[in-house]
Amino acid sequence: LTRAYDALKFQPTVTKDGHAVALQLNAGLLVDLPQLDQAGADGIGLFRTEFQFMVSDFMPKLKEQTALYRQAIEAAGTRPVTFRTLDLGGDKILPYIDPVPEENPAIGWRAIRIALDRPGLMRYQLRALVAAGAGKHLRVMFPMVTTVDEMMQARALFDREIERAASLDLDLPAKVEVGVMLETPSLAWQVSAVCDHADFVSVGANDLMQFFFAADRDNARVSDRYDPLHPAALSVLKFISDRCKANDTPVSVCGEIAGRPLEAVALTALGYRTLSMPVTGIGPVKAALLKLDADDLAKVLIPQMSIESRSSSLRGVIQDYC
Ligand code: PEP
Ligand code: MG
Repeated sequence: LTRAYDALKFQPTVTKDGHAVALQLNAGLLVDLPQLDQAGADGIGLFRTEFQFMVSDFMPKLKEQTALYRQAIEAAGTRPVTFRTLDLGGDKILPYIDPVPEENPAIGWRAIRIALDRPGLMRYQLRALVAAGAGKHLRVMFPMVTTVDEMMQARALFDREIERAASLDLDLPAKVEVGVMLETPSLAWQVSAVCDHADFVSVGANDLMQFFFAADRDNARVSDRYDPLHPAALSVLKFISDRCKANDTPVSVCGEIAGRPLEAVALTALGYRTLSMPVTGIGPVKAALLKLDADDLAKVLIPQMSIESRSSSLRGVIQDYC
């Protein structure tokens, strides 16, 4: 699949009407890193750190965590790497920790909720990230944040690790950015407020859409109720992009939809300029964006989003621009 798009690999992604869009990779393991160059990706927009924990028989040690993060930063060179702190719970189970039985794991004790209730594990991980970032650009973000207060608490834990490293005279990262994943509707309604505490916002569209439509992302029976091109979904995605822009906070999308040409085209029309996706998405998305007149699509698409229409999807409108 990627071979068909080889010719585009070194071509920057700029829409026909001149908007540059960064196409980044979703990654998580050492084996993913060569894909950066194979696909000509503009960095790693989502490094799922829990993968290392899920494929190990034991909890990865500080040294092992640091080594993986360092290798990711080095593989990316001058391109950014955004590490997402552990997103455990929900569908992500560790073989060496007994799962807590829950009725609704996706909205249960997971991700940042575990990290804030039992900060030991995340502090250890943040220590590894700070060490891996020595002399480099370090970007860290937190998953499943639902309130501004959670972001402040998580950020305080990160700051503590920076202070610890400084007090021990360890080498510090040359530049640090701490961001938030926006993947719950409650945070979408607080996006301006969270921008005051986040250096960047990354929309986790898989979870955001599942909670927005109250439709399990992995349940085929309800998958047609989960339509990111529904006017309601596009409206919330536009709201987030507009508010981040108004707050001068960089915003990106890192769910699977970023890697689908039609959805990526819509996101670009809504103002997103950074998309992070599985490697197979980069070629097809780039090909679609190179042909796109994003401002023209925006002029047609945005008014349709606010019309009470019987058609539940704006897929057809967007298709005309692909
Ligand atoms: C998301 O929810 O969109 C996301 C990128 O994170 P994950 O798929 O790992 O939950
Ligand atoms: Mg998620």
